Amino acid sequence: MDEDLLNGSQLKDLTYPVPRIDDFLLDDNLPAPRGKIPADNAPLHIIEAPKFELGVLDTLPLELLQISFSMLDLSSLAALRCVNRRAVEVVESIPQYKAIIAHAPKVLRAASCIGTGRWISCDTLYEKLCTANCEECGDFGGYLYILTCKRVCFLCISQNKKYLPLRRSHAIRKFGLNRQIVDTLRCMRSLPGTYSPNERRCSERIVLVDRESACRAGTTLHGSFSAMEQYVSDTSAAKLEEFNKRIQDDISQKAAVGSKTPRRRRPQTEDPFDGLSGNPLRFMAIVRVPWLNKVSSEAEWGFHCIGCAQYAISRPLHFRRKFTAASFTEHLRECDSFVTGIITRNDFQN
Ligand SMILES: [Zn+2]
Ligand SMILES: [Zn+2]
Repeated sequence: MDEDLLNGSQLKDLTYPVPRIDDFLLDDNLPAPRGKIPADNAPLHIIEAPKFELGVLDTLPLELLQISFSMLDLSSLAALRCVNRRAVEVVESIPQYKAIIAHAPKVLRAASCIGTGRWISCDTLYEKLCTANCEECGDFGGYLYILTCKRVCFLCISQNKKYLPLRRSHAIRKFGLNRQIVDTLRCMRSLPGTYSPNERRCSERIVLVDRESACRAGTTLHGSFSAMEQYVSDTSAAKLEEFNKRIQDDISQKAAVGSKTPRRRRPQTEDPFDGLSGNPLRFMAIVRVPWLNKVSSEAEWGFHCIGCAQYAISRPLHFRRKFTAASFTEHLRECDSFVTGIITRNDFQN
């Protein structure tokens, strides 16, 4: 098979931009833009000329301010914009910030809504915007997990445990932590709305903790991963033993004095059911992002293979996989529909 990149017309014939299914992610649930963060795709803040300066900071060259401010986290940049018009002017002149506003403005609003902006620097977000591939599997990654600012693909979001944030109580139980430690970890407050392709309605704001951060904290607290697992296992066994003892006491008491047995709740020791792509928690920190191709300065969203549209079980053939022009050329060698000749490139030559 010809390994040259396909031309635009061939790509258009062999691929499609989005599957016919709504994902219901965090960016689908954002409230209308308002306040400090510019509306999506709006021209940058048009303001009157600043009346005041930035004090001693304005004695520094603009380039130096831009470099320093680009290292700030998103919450600090939002706070800085509130200082005065000059601060807005300087923040909006940062090249990385400009690119984010132009190509991924929803990330700023999403991070502000769920409270994760304090952990994401402008530089880091820009770097992720300019990276095409999923950090787990290397496929084109069309999404950002904004608890830790990682670029991921749909299959990793919906199947990899790392991208399932945990309720606070689950994180404490699973990694043998306490509340004080959990409160220091990367966490978020979910936005009420509808999440996952199964359209699960979630009307409460819940605190969710990043799983990897919780696992690391547990390992540090207990000295090693295996010591942590042993602690969690012993704690669960002790809770179950205590529960069973109480049940026995209740039964004995009922037999002796004929009193009603109280209803007791069995302690939770197992992980809650995951549900993978049907689990709304997996989509509460996920925002769609394009890849900003530095060579062409174009934002690319990736595309799906028509040969894989019928597959939904496992890779390499799966309708959820996304490709760039380069990775799609590679994919044609493994894609059944093309390899077996059901579809050929010649069918689509102009
Ligand atoms: Zn992936
Ligand atoms: Zn394919």
